[in-house]
Amino acid sequence: MIEDQDPTAPVSDRRKFDRNLMETGNSLAHRVVEPVPFCWFCDRTASKRSKEHIFPQWLLRHHNAMDERVHPIRASLPLGGVVASERGERPLRAHFNGEVCADCNNGWMSALEVAVTPLLTLDPRQGPISGDDALTLARWFAKTAINLNVSQPFRLLVNAPARHGLATGVPSGFAVHLFRSEKQNGVFDWVQKSADAALCSPDHLGDMQRLIELTLVTHIRIADLVGVVVYAPELPRPENIVLRDAVRIYPRPGSAPAWESLPVRKDYLDIVTFVEANYASFTGNDLPDEGNSWPFIKRSSG
Ligand SMILES: [Zn+2]
Repeated sequence: MIEDQDPTAPVSDRRKFDRNLMETGNSLAHRVVEPVPFCWFCDRTASKRSKEHIFPQWLLRHHNAMDERVHPIRASLPLGGVVASERGERPLRAHFNGEVCADCNNGWMSALEVAVTPLLTLDPRQGPISGDDALTLARWFAKTAINLNVSQPFRLLVNAPARHGLATGVPSGFAVHLFRSEKQNGVFDWVQKSADAALCSPDHLGDMQRLIELTLVTHIRIADLVGVVVYAPELPRPENIVLRDAVRIYPRPGSAPAWESLPVRKDYLDIVTFVEANYASFTGNDLPDEGNSWPFIKRSSG
């Protein structure tokens, strides 16, 4: 469920990130509230737990990055999101989501890794990205974004049906974009945030703020390739959240994009996501004067 407070979820069952924020008196942005499950990707309540590498070992080996250090706080600092980290520095080989069952990990997740391997190690990256390849890439980037969202210091934004639906495809609510980055400080990096800006009238500012806070935008960089996963659980739809200088591969655009058409940007963090439709256009409410639209800028709360 999506609420500021969920009476069915005792505080002690909530994610550590939320509990830390609540203990320090921080106001909580809108988020998905649910008790920490046995497995973030299915309904099982008992089985064998396993450790799902957030960046898989085959990909770390491919880039010789098993010992690259990560410190999860850096994920949100550039965007002013979070000031307290609950995760220490560790090498990528020990960067896990520990709340995944062995059935998911050894089943569909393992098959997805096998399917995406030739796509993420393609050299040179040339030719059209077929519909099947786009689907595989989108599903893999969405899985990685969910692993990051549930295990790293940021508010939970992907609900259970969307997380569980990933076992068989790309659930409704996801869009995935690709671009390339000149800046490469290390091989792997990520950032989690919400959409950055939108237009709405003063009357709708509160509603728009809530909708924006519920969107997840995760940048995942692997060397020069950046996947941007957008998740929007309700309106605006993920297709309404636009990125300049990135190519959307899912939902599939009219014509197949080519690998060599991916735009190259200087930095992978400064790309702005903008909600293209204004509040009125996706609620059906008429705005008295479109000229009164206000820019919405997201607040930087956890
Ligand atoms: Zn599972």
